[in-house]
Amino acid sequence: MPETQQTFDSRSPADGRVVGTFPLMEADAVNEAVDRARIASSWWGDLGFDGRRPYLMRFKSILARRSSELAELVHQENGKPTDDALLEILLSIEHLHWAAKHAERVLKRRKVGTGLLTMNQDARLAYQPLGVIGVIGPWNYPVFTPMGSIAYALAAGNAIVYKPSEYTPMVGEWLIKAIQEAIPDQPVAQLVTGAGVTGAALCNSGVDKIAFTGSGATGRKVLKECAETLTPVTLELGGKDAVLVDASADLEKAADAVTFGAYHNAGQTCAGVERVYVHEAVYHEFLDRVAAKTRDLTPGTNRTSSYGPMTMPTQIDVVRRHVLDAMARGGEAVVGGAESVGDRMISPVLLTNVPEDSSAITEETFGPTIVVNPVRDLDEAVDRSNASSYGLSAAIFSKDRKAMERAASRLRVGAVTMNTWVMNAGVPALPWGGSGDSGFGRIHGEDGLREFTRPKATAREKYALPVALTLTNFQRHPKAADLVRKTFAFVHGRS
Ligand code: NAD
Repeated sequence: MPETQQTFDSRSPADGRVVGTFPLMEADAVNEAVDRARIASSWWGDLGFDGRRPYLMRFKSILARRSSELAELVHQENGKPTDDALLEILLSIEHLHWAAKHAERVLKRRKVGTGLLTMNQDARLAYQPLGVIGVIGPWNYPVFTPMGSIAYALAAGNAIVYKPSEYTPMVGEWLIKAIQEAIPDQPVAQLVTGAGVTGAALCNSGVDKIAFTGSGATGRKVLKECAETLTPVTLELGGKDAVLVDASADLEKAADAVTFGAYHNAGQTCAGVERVYVHEAVYHEFLDRVAAKTRDLTPGTNRTSSYGPMTMPTQIDVVRRHVLDAMARGGEAVVGGAESVGDRMISPVLLTNVPEDSSAITEETFGPTIVVNPVRDLDEAVDRSNASSYGLSAAIFSKDRKAMERAASRLRVGAVTMNTWVMNAGVPALPWGGSGDSGFGRIHGEDGLREFTRPKATAREKYALPVALTLTNFQRHPKAADLVRKTFAFVHGRS
């Protein structure tokens, strides 16, 4: 790092000690990284699917062999228990494997059907790499979240420039070094470190796409920054996910999923359970079960705690404000309360009967709190879930499969899980992303691969059509249009 380079510290959320120091990069350094990636992108794109696959498998193998080392770094820098860190690494490995294995099938040039007027054309569709993808990531899943873009962008033939969150640059650096070790030939993956200025510089650097994951407020800034250069973006933003518990649900299973979904990672999960709508017939029993499980939790700063400290100090005030607002409006705290919100740690808070216009229901809380509210039936649960401006995902618990499927199709979200929580994120073939305030665009699966490509259409004339059937020619036959019109009336006009 040059002596004049400004730096910033990454600190452990457990005790504030410095765990790493990184350059605060501005436009010049970011542009240089993008230039290097641009040169590497030609080489990487030209390798083709067969050429890239062994490199990606080598990266996968590094992740799998050194997962404990990476999990420890995540624990140090993000604060989560090591098993939770391991979980996000293992899921990332599965996504990388899937992306590398399926990229050719999904993206390779293929023949497509033609129409009546174009039956003499050989029509083909290819999905070509865009070039360089700028990936901007958050801190809450510092491995899984960026890998959702990085793995798919690389598999589609792009180079990447990654700007990790200023709260987890050490994990970001580990990932990029692992890619560089797996692909030593060319700098296909570059790291840029810093805060908002660095992210903004990446948006303005001339990359071919920005894959952004983070808050809605920053997502809006990214969209504005990218508007200047017409750089396309995917925005994976926040959520206010609901769980719908039907009268027939297996309450023990639902309570387990809700407790884990809400408190795991200290509630700092975009698809974390923040609202639960429970059929009134089972509301009391369900609430008791969740309360008992909540009281059993042991949050702390150990590697094996139920969950760790809050990673980003400013979020603590948001959580406190939501709990206070819920209670001021008549909500009841079944476990914990405003006093649960400490300086670094927040003990679990279980709220009920919280009015639907409270900030604890309308805004993303991103802390270890849940609101459990009773509803008349599954329909009302769907309506309340859909009343949110967010639309990331939702879960339904019921033994009535038809009712569950009906509710799932009505939910205005990107994904619905049934009798389980967030398992969609672990299925590499399923796309991930939301609507409304949760953003747009998709990572993961076939849609996630195509997100990092430019569809290229080609039409090649196989043979010339008889003049009598040709309309795209000034020398067309006077009767051509009439003949084609009659043919169309015969083929299309009879239904
Ligand atoms: P954030 O918006 O504060 O920061 C995200 C990234 O944007 C960071 O790297 C930051 O440095 C960068 N940034 C800040 N200002 C910028 C600017 N002007 N231009 C470009 N980049 C800029 O979010 P966070 O606190 O790191 O992450 C938490 C949020 O992320 C939550 O809202 C959570 O729900 C969301 N999230 C969403 C998903 C998803 O898949 N939908 C996954 C994980 C997290």
